[in-house]
Amino acid sequence: MRHGRLLRPGGTRPSIVAAEAKPYESSVTATHDSGSLRPERWFAGFRRTRLVLAVTAVAFAVLWALGAIAAGPALAGFALVAAAVLIATAKSESSPALLARDEPSAPRTGDPLIEAVLAALPDPVVALDHRGDVVALNARAASIAPALRPGESVSLGLRVPEVLEAIRQARASGTSQRAEFFQRVPLDRWYEVIATPISEAGFKPGLVLLAFHDLTPLRRVEEMRADFVANASHELRTPLAALSGFIDTLRGSAREDPAARERFLAIMQAQADRMARLIDDLLSLSRIELNAHVRPDKAVDLGAIVRQVTDGLQTLARDRGVEIKTIGASDPLLVPGDRDELIRVFENLVENALKYAASGKRVEIALSFGGGAEGISEARVAVRDHGPGIAPEHLPRLTERFYRVDVSESRAQGGTGLGLALVKHILNRHAGRLTIESVPGQGATFTVHLPLAVGAAGGGS
Ligand code: ADP
Repeated sequence: MRHGRLLRPGGTRPSIVAAEAKPYESSVTATHDSGSLRPERWFAGFRRTRLVLAVTAVAFAVLWALGAIAAGPALAGFALVAAAVLIATAKSESSPALLARDEPSAPRTGDPLIEAVLAALPDPVVALDHRGDVVALNARAASIAPALRPGESVSLGLRVPEVLEAIRQARASGTSQRAEFFQRVPLDRWYEVIATPISEAGFKPGLVLLAFHDLTPLRRVEEMRADFVANASHELRTPLAALSGFIDTLRGSAREDPAARERFLAIMQAQADRMARLIDDLLSLSRIELNAHVRPDKAVDLGAIVRQVTDGLQTLARDRGVEIKTIGASDPLLVPGDRDELIRVFENLVENALKYAASGKRVEIALSFGGGAEGISEARVAVRDHGPGIAPEHLPRLTERFYRVDVSESRAQGGTGLGLALVKHILNRHAGRLTIESVPGQGATFTVHLPLAVGAAGGGS
């Protein structure tokens, strides 16, 4: 099947017309084809010359009627004249098409048709001629390879051997070729390039189209995944190494030492618990990510959830010598939410306050209504401690997986480094957010913002 051809109606603006047409002619109107012998051309000729033919017929008829000529010669004479007129008309019709049927031309730099097509494409694309010179490129391609200039060789503006080789092979083989390359300037980016030879567009010799795809987001996700697996295995390997070390000790030097055995068994228990917590947190994270796009729709009362969490943490609070105080919980604070996930959020925040800020002796949990983004009312729960606080450079990274201000302290507290990452993911799923404020030496405030359930707008404190 033939592809569409490229025409320039009126000799200036190009257009694309459908199948079975003749090749491109760069400078001449080419709306006629070569079919001077086609039936439609004969009909068109007949329409235009019918007056001449009618007059001729009448003249021969009159001559025959007057007896000046016999019927046979009259008919033959009329047929001859009619044929001559029709042929002359058909030829005069087809003469412009002879120009259009000239040999197809090479694609030219700045060709408005090619430029218009490239500008309409969503991907960065460069069109090259058979020598590898740039015929046109769109703005997106220019931003990737600013040194590329129309009329200049692609090798001057894109010094990537893999890409130049793909272009060469595409031209030589007539098939699409793929290459990948990495660009450091102005930013680290990975690209895939597809070089596609185009020989059916009416150009001779043909074009090569270079299309770029940005692989950077894909690569970043791959890197994040690899980092995550590396971090998770490292976190698991540490307690595992401790466990096997203690097993060796218990079999060896501590074999006959009941006091040492008890101490080591307690440490082993703590390490095993830490591994279990880590696996639990990892599973929770992946479950929350799976449901990330499903918004919970059941209304739950944040006041009741906070009460349940503080009751559950009273033993830890007593152990650490910290008093937990809840403020403003008299009215129900209803939000659409997953009860278990929200319990997890406040457990993490209050537990962190008890673990890392016990020196402050007090933890306050304040529940309130507030105006959220775009004036929508929201529920706020602020967990405030009076501990050492957090230096400002750590604040933006606290919710990253495995990020800790002090790794050894987190481990000593049985932390996994996933608590605040879980909080962030759960709140994202609830269309909420977490804000953190802290002044080093004066404690920290972690505030949960959640959209209120419909009809639950704020009469509270
Ligand atoms: P972890 O399991 O280590 O507690 P989190 O994600 O819950 O992990 O917390 C990340 C880090 O944030 C902690 O290791 C700690 O350094 C810091 N952090 C969290 N809460 C507080 C707090 N209330 N005061 C001081 N530092 C905190």
